[in-house]
Amino acid sequence: MSKILIIEDESSIAELEKDYLEQAGYTVVVENDGKAGLNAALREDINLVVLDLMLPGMDGLEVCRRVREARNIPILIVSARTEDIDKIRGLDFGSDDYITKPFSPGELVARVKAHLAFYDRVMYRAQLEEEKQIVEIRGIRIDKTSRRVWVNGEEKTFTNKEFDLLTFLAEHPDRVFTKAELFREIWNMDSVGDIATVTVHIKKIREKIEFNTAKPQYIETIWGVGYRFKV
Ligand code: CA
Repeated sequence: MSKILIIEDESSIAELEKDYLEQAGYTVVVENDGKAGLNAALREDINLVVLDLMLPGMDGLEVCRRVREARNIPILIVSARTEDIDKIRGLDFGSDDYITKPFSPGELVARVKAHLAFYDRVMYRAQLEEEKQIVEIRGIRIDKTSRRVWVNGEEKTFTNKEFDLLTFLAEHPDRVFTKAELFREIWNMDSVGDIATVTVHIKKIREKIEFNTAKPQYIETIWGVGYRFKV
């Protein structure tokens, strides 16, 4: 469950916020001073900050700025001063949000929920993007970003076309491709070119990934058709 940090020097407000957020199922930590709040936000495993602006120790806007520099978490500002709200609007605070005092606790909880859900989606998408850059099949690991390949933990070097061909086959496991299809896909030309080049490249790849090239465990030859990456 998400952990929320409340930075608020008025204990009655801090308690009210804490009660409602805990009822909504969140773990809540309270700091009542700007500096201590900043330290907690940077140090602890905090998922969202509810931040007052008029604080002892360090101004809330400064706390906000410094948390943002270091961490990618939502900051929900709670302030009574409309001039502060104007300041926040004027700055580029991205997905940050503000609530004016007095506020309804229900609104606070709703905003917190919405921001955490939004961040979860963003983080999830970022994670998916990262995973897509890694192809892993039975001891073969291909990193598409750095264009590196490991076979049972040992790094092997491939030419550009060998890398592209291996990656293409590994990303479409269990599908048979004709030499002409592979040639079109990797060499990006019409199959009028020399498709024997595919055979040569498959041979080179096998020498690097197969334990026994006479009995390939990864790239299988389908006689009379083409090649298939076995799952
Ligand atoms: Ca205050």
